[in-house]
Amino acid sequence: MRIDKILDKKQTFSFEIFPPRGDLPVEQAMVIAEELAHERPDWISVTFSAGGSGNTGNTAAIASRIQRHTGTNALAHLTCLGSSKADVDTYVRHLQEGGVQNVLALRGDRAPGRTAVDFLYASELIEHLKRTSPDLCVGAACYPEGHVEAPSFEADIEALKRKQDAGADFLVTQLFFDNELFYRFREACVRARIKIPITVGVMPFTSTKQITRMAFTCGASIPARVIKRLIAAGDDPADQARAGVEYACEQLCDLAANGVDGLHVYSMNKPGLARDTHEALRACGYCKA
Ligand code: FAD
Repeated sequence: MRIDKILDKKQTFSFEIFPPRGDLPVEQAMVIAEELAHERPDWISVTFSAGGSGNTGNTAAIASRIQRHTGTNALAHLTCLGSSKADVDTYVRHLQEGGVQNVLALRGDRAPGRTAVDFLYASELIEHLKRTSPDLCVGAACYPEGHVEAPSFEADIEALKRKQDAGADFLVTQLFFDNELFYRFREACVRARIKIPITVGVMPFTSTKQITRMAFTCGASIPARVIKRLIAAGDDPADQARAGVEYACEQLCDLAANGVDGLHVYSMNKPGLARDTHEALRACGYCKA
């Protein structure tokens, strides 16, 4: 089913899976996907890597198997930097043959040797997808703290408006650890007449090292209350990870209480995180089942 049609009817709850590297990925990823599907999310998204991790060919295969075999909707990511229109068309054909109706259209991160071929920005990919595959539901990324390359928060909101104008059907946010920043972003979207649903991505931090890496790669700020929790957790990796799950559950329940369109958990291939966050959202009344 198209995700925009689900969002028309209800607040959603979803997970993400990133295909592992190497030659075994589809089977390995499907074991995780089956466990995520057990929580009955509205969809499972499958990330895409244009370089390095070698999963490009597997995203479509895994998304198709999720769609066909788990009874869960799949959202297949697609990055366009370094891809031609023909590459994109081939990928979309594979998805459609596999019954996948939802794509998250992204530019991808800049990397040495990865230059624009036919697409400079995600908005150009969205426009191409909506013109060539009008039946596809197309999502796009958004950044509550602004994208790391954007010259200003306002410039990034203008870029986001271009994605809506190009035909994006819904948005998924970058992770963040301070809900107040999301509420500020949501108000800025209203002022900019960005009206498509925004599903909110939350990632449970797993350690001091991991959250520091996140802060540097995607520009997420770390509030003092998170730092205090990590200090209280001390050096024990299990205590740090537990603090991360507890914090994410509180973040999710606060977002739920503040009327979000959807909640998306960056479940990092860990079904335990999916179970814990789902349980918290049942307890606070956001998820009914
Ligand atoms: P764009 O929307 O093109 O924006 C990129 C930059 O250009 C921004 O700074 C924006 O302000 C600016 N910009 C946009 N349009 C214009 C314009 N017309 N003129 C001037 N400036 C402009 N990466 C992966 O490799 N694989 C994944 O599976 C993946 N999944 C993701 C899922 C989510 C929910 C999110 C938030 C990110 C994901 N990413 C993924 C990371 C993403 O590829 C990077 O954040 C990338 O740097 C930007 O992608 P974008 O689609 O937001 O780009």
